Amino acid sequence: MLAVRLPRCAALVEEGETTAMNFRRQLLAEPGKKVKLSRFDPDDTMGWQKGAKTNASLEKAIEKLDSLQYLLYAERKRALLIIFQALDGGGKDGTIRHVMGGVNPQGCRVTSFKVPSAEEAAHDFLWRAHKAVPEYGEIGIFNRSHYEDVLVVRVHNLAPKDVWSRRYEQINRFESLLVENNIAVVKFFLHISKDEQKKRLMERIDDPNKHWKISQADFNERRFWDDYMEAYEEALTRCNTPDTPWYIVPANKKWFRNLAISHILAETLDAMDMKFPKPTIDVKRLKW
Ligand code: AMP
Ligand code: MG
Repeated sequence: MLAVRLPRCAALVEEGETTAMNFRRQLLAEPGKKVKLSRFDPDDTMGWQKGAKTNASLEKAIEKLDSLQYLLYAERKRALLIIFQALDGGGKDGTIRHVMGGVNPQGCRVTSFKVPSAEEAAHDFLWRAHKAVPEYGEIGIFNRSHYEDVLVVRVHNLAPKDVWSRRYEQINRFESLLVENNIAVVKFFLHISKDEQKKRLMERIDDPNKHWKISQADFNERRFWDDYMEAYEEALTRCNTPDTPWYIVPANKKWFRNLAISHILAETLDAMDMKFPKPTIDVKRLKW
């Protein structure tokens, strides 16, 4: 008998299994290697162009994500935690809307991390993150995350250096605890340029429907752009293991960002090799 490994997902094979593998391989920040963000082009599209082919590929990846989430939910043995980090205007909200919009909300939980509440601030910095970790069978999405505690906190000296500098290792231990307990962790840094950020903040000013999104802080933070780049580089370098990888996604082009992330997520779930649970009944003997 031929030992053929049956494809887990027909959609991917049709398109060439290499598509998603390429996004994963090319956008992965190599563990152990120092990240220098100036070497990553935020305009890169890996040869893809806006148009029908890209739309079709995006649609396929989103469909695949939906069917794999159904399997994750049925199996209930594992969870997937997706972390989105970016500067203001980086597109975290848009990515969540476009990429996760096709997934059953019943199996998802999104958590936005804001300035810590009094209760959160009265705990260790990982407390609120751990509380928001998805349960088995779920996809958890972090819109910002515990990484803020080595980003905004570092840039604005909200904690002493000897406190935040120990957090990289603490984050690594926290994330590996999750992985050891069957929670896959995948992290995306949405990489935009300073000019693109300006363009997006200006668009918010021009569109009355976006005024609610504007805060003075977003404009003030632009002055700290270089400090943020440095803080991101350190987090992307020090908290990047093969089990808890960072993807650096060129995000100036929203359509490419959505395409890449949906493929990486679908492929990540596919690689988890999930199985439907055995039925508890013999369907053939079921009496009407
Ligand atoms: P937004 O994502 O636009 O809703 O803004 C949330 C704000 O909360 C951002 O300015 C973050 O920098 C800030 N924030 C998130 N986590 C923390 C934290 N641990 N300490 C201080 N500020 C935070
Ligand atoms: Mg904001």
